[in-house]
Formats: sequence, C-alpha cells, structure tokens
Amino acid sequence: MNIHEYQAKQLFQIFGIPVPDGKPAITADGAEQVARELGGDGWVVKAQVHAGGRGKVGGVKLAKNLAEVAGFSRDMLGKRIVTIQTDSAGLPVNSLLIEKIYPIKRELYLSILVDRASERVIFIASAAGGMDIETVAHESPEQIISVQIHPAAGLQAYQCRKVAYTLGLKGYQIKALGKIMQGMYDLFLAKDASQIEINPLIETHSGDLLALDAKINFDDNAVTIHPEILAMKDPSQEDDKENHAHQFGLNYITLEGNIGCMVNGAGLAMATMDLVKLKGGLPANFLDVGGGTNVEKVCEAFKLILSDNSVKAVLVNIFGGIVQCDVIAAGILAAVEQVHVTVPVVVRLEGTNVEQGRALLSNTGHKIYPADDLAHAAEQVVALAEAA
Ligand code: GDP
Ligand code: MN
Repeated sequence: MNIHEYQAKQLFQIFGIPVPDGKPAITADGAEQVARELGGDGWVVKAQVHAGGRGKVGGVKLAKNLAEVAGFSRDMLGKRIVTIQTDSAGLPVNSLLIEKIYPIKRELYLSILVDRASERVIFIASAAGGMDIETVAHESPEQIISVQIHPAAGLQAYQCRKVAYTLGLKGYQIKALGKIMQGMYDLFLAKDASQIEINPLIETHSGDLLALDAKINFDDNAVTIHPEILAMKDPSQEDDKENHAHQFGLNYITLEGNIGCMVNGAGLAMATMDLVKLKGGLPANFLDVGGGTNVEKVCEAFKLILSDNSVKAVLVNIFGGIVQCDVIAAGILAAVEQVHVTVPVVVRLEGTNVEQGRALLSNTGHKIYPADDLAHAAEQVVALAEAA
C-alpha cells in the first residue's frame, strides 16, 4: 500500500526525521491560507499523487507570492497527472502539499528496503540525488552504496558514518544523518514498511539536512494490523478494477494485452501468461480466482475481465483440485449467460470430474471452446484474439 507524501512526512516527524514546514490543502483558497500561515517569501506547491517524477511534469511548482500559490493550486487541482511512474491515464490530483521553500545546496538520495538477495533490510544512498535512481544505477553504479542491517544487531553507528562519508557530509551533519537513518529504520520496522525513499534528501545552504520528498510503501499483508496506516489509504490513487477485485477475494492486475486470463492459483496464472506470450499473444490481465472458487466469483471475474475494452478473447485455465471441474463448468456457463459474454472463451479444465465438466461446455450455443491441452488452448486463444 502507498500513501501520499504529506502523510509520509507526518510519519517522518513522529520518527524524528526533519521535513520542510508545510501542510496539505484541498482547495486553492486553502492552499493560499496555508502559505500565509507558514509565512516567508516563497512556497512550493506539490501535487499529491501516488507516483514520483512530478517535478518534470509540472506537479511541483515554486511560487514567489500568495497569488502564485493560489494560481498553481487551481491549475493542479482536479487534473490528472501523468509521470514516468504512472500509466498513460495518470492519477487524479485531489490534494496538494504547500511547503516553505528551502535553499538547496545539494540533493542526495537515501532509501531503506528489503533486499531479497541478501535477505536483509538495506539502506541505499547516493550523492546523486534528485534524479531517477534507476538511471544513476544504470549510468554510474559507483555512485551508489548500500549497507546491510543485521536483524539481531540493528543499525550500527559505523554504518551511518559510512553512508555519511559517501554522501560527503561533515561535522555535525554526520550525527544528523545518523538520526535520520535511525528514524527511517525504526519507522520501517514499527509500521511494516517495504520501502521508504527520500529523494531528494537535501543539504541546505546553512548545512541542515531535510527530507524534501518522502515516499513510503507498506507491506499489504501487514497493514491490517496497523489501522492508523490503513486509514491513510486513498482509493482514488488506485486502479478501480484492482480495488473491486480485492472486495471479491480476487487477485487482479491490469496489463496491456488483449487476451483476458482467468486462472486458479497464482503460479498457474503466471505459467498461463507465459504460455500465451510464448504463442505470440499478450495477456490483458493477471487474475487468480483462488482455490475454492464458486459461481459468484467466476461471474465477478468475467465482469472484471470484460470491463477492459481491449479484451478480444478469454482463456480460462482451471485445475479442479479443491473444486470439481463440473462445478466450475456450470459456473462458467452461468457467468457467460449472466454477464452476456460475446468474445470467444477458450476453457482448459483438468482434474476431478473433468469429463463431466467438458461435456457441460460442449454444444452450448455460446462461443465456448473446450480445450484438453494447455499449449493447444493458448494457441487457440491467440488465434481467436487475432481473428477478432
Ligand atoms: P518528484 O519529482 O515527484 O520526485 O518530486 P520532488 O518532491 O522530489 O520534487 C522535485 C524537485 O523539485 C526536487 O528535486 C527539487 O529540485 C525541486 N523542489 C522541491 N521542493 C523544493 C524546495 O523547497 N526548494 C527548491 N529550491 N526546490 C524544490
Ligand atoms: Mn522525488
């Protein structure tokens, strides 16, 4: 789960990580009011969306006076913003963060995440902050360092010093960075985050360190035990279809192709998508209907798949282990009738009562194509999608 920058910065403050003076707003008047209260002679207006890369597309604006704060706010609110981290539809801007402007001397990069390869929580740091870290990693990997935290020992002072030297920090800044890293580590563990990224972490002209940007990702499997984090969820920033699927216990992810996939089991779903690609097709989605599926779930799954206009054919691949194939076949038939499925549906069933299941799906009068072999089913669905 993701949260907004202004919410991440509220958590930063609780954990002793310094952030710019600022407050969120949801109207242009409110934004102007916030700027007036903050005082000073310059403010940053930042679009709050669950994606980075805002700076390059007008989602971060520097205002010299209150009229500009209101003007920039009016321009951003109610629009959608498309960045390199969103899809082509972008994300809606419903809130803003108004902050005082700080004079930037240098922009640094600092993040903490789980490194699956080393099975450790690690910090990643670079003096080349402010830009896309993937680009830095690609073009000048020597500018990035990482330190692994041993779970029993925790974050060590020498590790913070190592990062501080790499970032070119001196004197009291070294201690300040240690405090920031400890805050990130504590926050990471306390709230079951999967990533916290500060890009940029700035050094001001007076030498202070501040988290100018803040991004936190939480482990979806842990948010239920952190109600205060769950309360920060903003469904407007998430895919409608994925939200809807979640309510029905379906695991759905939108993709770019034209072949809808309905499969039971995440592993089988991945294998099915691989096979579709191998046969020259492109999956429109990942969809795991789960082990104990029923007619209602199958209907909802069809509705989800077909709500995507690019879907030209559907591949159903179900292994009847817990549920029997004839029950699934009846479910598919009911769904095709209820949901008025008009695109061709290739069905590959395997497992208990498979013969009865296949019999139910032949000669139905609908465009249902029972297949006995997975490779053949994939070939068939690719051909049908191409023909459509
Ligand atoms: P992102 O593009 O979505 O990652 O948004 P950021 O919060 O990282 O802002 C992008 C860029 O805007 C930063 O790298 C800074 O260069 C600039 N920026 C943001 N806040 C300030 C500020 O308070 N003062 C100045 N001078 N620049 C800022
Ligand atoms: Mn950023």
